[in-house]
Amino acid sequence: MDVLSPYILEYVSKLNIDKDTVNYVLDLSNELVERTKLAEKAPEFDKAGPKLENGEVSLPPGNEEIYREFGKAGLYAIFAPEDYEGMGLPYTLYTGFTEIVSRACGSTGLGVAVQGSVIDILTAFGNEKQKAKYLPRLAKGEIFGSVAFTEPVAGSDLANTKTTAIDEGDYFVLNGQKQFITNGGFSEVYVVLARTDPDKGKKGYSQLLLERDMEGFSVGRLEKKYGLEGSPTAVLNFDNVKVPKENLLGTRGEGLKQTILGLSGGERIGVAAWSTGIAYTAYLEAKEYSQIRKAFGKPIGEIPIIKSKLEKMEKQLDLARKSYVRAAVVKDTGGPWALEASIAKLYASEAAVDITYQNQQIHGGNGITRDYPAERHVRDVRTATIGGGTSEIQQLIITRNIKQKQMKFVGEEGSWEKWFIPAEDYTVLIPKGLVDWEFWGVQK
Ligand SMILES: Cc1cc2nc3c(=O)[nH]c(=O)nc-3n(C[C@H](O)[C@H](O)[C@H](O)COP(=O)(O)OP(=O)(O)OC[C@H]3O[C@@H](n4cnc5c(N)ncnc54)[C@H](O)[C@@H]3O)c2cc1C
Repeated sequence: MDVLSPYILEYVSKLNIDKDTVNYVLDLSNELVERTKLAEKAPEFDKAGPKLENGEVSLPPGNEEIYREFGKAGLYAIFAPEDYEGMGLPYTLYTGFTEIVSRACGSTGLGVAVQGSVIDILTAFGNEKQKAKYLPRLAKGEIFGSVAFTEPVAGSDLANTKTTAIDEGDYFVLNGQKQFITNGGFSEVYVVLARTDPDKGKKGYSQLLLERDMEGFSVGRLEKKYGLEGSPTAVLNFDNVKVPKENLLGTRGEGLKQTILGLSGGERIGVAAWSTGIAYTAYLEAKEYSQIRKAFGKPIGEIPIIKSKLEKMEKQLDLARKSYVRAAVVKDTGGPWALEASIAKLYASEAAVDITYQNQQIHGGNGITRDYPAERHVRDVRTATIGGGTSEIQQLIITRNIKQKQMKFVGEEGSWEKWFIPAEDYTVLIPKGLVDWEFWGVQK
């Protein structure tokens, strides 16, 4: 049984699934990770990196085959609707798949999380024709998807989006540039945020479904970056791309709202699960190394300060898993999932950065070399507190919710603070010490 199983099993009755289904999905994820030898190949993917040649992006040798194997095994189909060749299971189980892949390879885990985000966004906002066209192929891993929101001058501040999609009758004509797009150039389909009606303020944005082979779409460059070096992070250029009107996703004018909803749900919980996966491997490595490595005549794991670090890491991991599973369950069952997603994303990503750093520290000089994976985990997980909305933005969202919803602090329970939302008769759990309340002007 996977270590994650008890965390999800706690919610089986709420999710209306049984124990066997949970274990089936987690076991299948582990089986595929083992069968494809993903963990052994992760250092090679990190070293080789993706390539941009003649305008085409390719993943590191052998990586695409693994992505496709996951698709053939039905893993991207976990929460896609049954009407579109999905399994129709809770989204929570997809986060389990994401964590398990990320334990083996941070770069591939990120791609899995992004594929889940695209399936989530299409399921939420796509019309029947769009769902029928894309969902079955995404679910089978025949095609891959990306989200393209960030621009050189618009990251946290998405309202500053400059990309335009001007109505020309049957088409929108798309012009602009996106930056930092995961799997950009590799994916066949893109959820793009653009301004369709620039004079309408916040109601002037829309989401479009862009296909890679549309004329005028090109990859500007792949970023050379710190970590996730097996994962393509691309600049995308749109030069008079004619996007058919039928590719408008959701409602015209609601693009900003849809983007924020997509980010608050699938993407943030996905990043939380992804970072927990990397952190779990780092923790296991730290535990193993501290039993093998000796200093002053005994294993370093017996030295009080190392022991205490390992205990802290274990607690952080437990809370990271509890936070993201909880958020995913709230997303599956209703309730304030956007707030829960921000809490999970903030806690899991910050904890994962700390855990991977402590693993490197416990490895001493070996942790700095490329002979051990400790340094790769530090690099790979660094994006967690930035991508999908930075830690500062998550703090802003949490404290804004507390103020706007007039949430009341109602005490502590174990590692959590309990905050009650009167209008929703709902209690949110926030890990203790997650937010500096005084700084954000919140009265407890
Ligand atoms: C490896 C990687 C993969 C990515 N993949 C994707 C992807 O697939 N699709 C996509 O669309 N984007 C992607 N991104 C982009 C990512 O989502 C953005 O980098 C992120 O949202 C932050 O935006 P920014 O980089 O413009 O930073 P900025 O918004 O410029 O922020 C700079 C700093 O200012 C702080 N800040 C900004 N505004 C506030 C505020 N109001 N209050 C407090 N602090 C504030 C931020 O927290 C941060 O510390 C990816 C990024 C990376 C690194």
